[in-house]
Amino acid sequence: MQPTVGVPALARHRGSCGYSLKPNTRRCGAPATVHLLVYSHSWGLVSLSSCNDHEEFARSSGELLGAHRFAAACGHPQARWCPFPHDPTKSECVAPALMAS
Ligand SMILES: [Zn+2]
Ligand SMILES: [Zn+2]
Repeated sequence: MQPTVGVPALARHRGSCGYSLKPNTRRCGAPATVHLLVYSHSWGLVSLSSCNDHEEFARSSGELLGAHRFAAACGHPQARWCPFPHDPTKSECVAPALMAS
């Protein structure tokens, strides 16, 4: 069975796991612990919020480009995925709205 990553994210902050067994069914909804950047052939470039239990599914949903621990800026609509300049294998999310406060 193909793992799925749920429906595309809405334009609101999402800090919960987006895993669902089938598209358009209820999402896991557990607090996200990991944030992954994946290139999927069906969706293109997507960032996935996942709990520990579903990290493996999220990682296998496409070509894994990066991952980091889920933090405050992750899933924020204005956040950007920023690779560390000195180590592109590491990354973090930066949201202008959160930096200003
Ligand atoms: Zn989950
Ligand atoms: Zn993130």
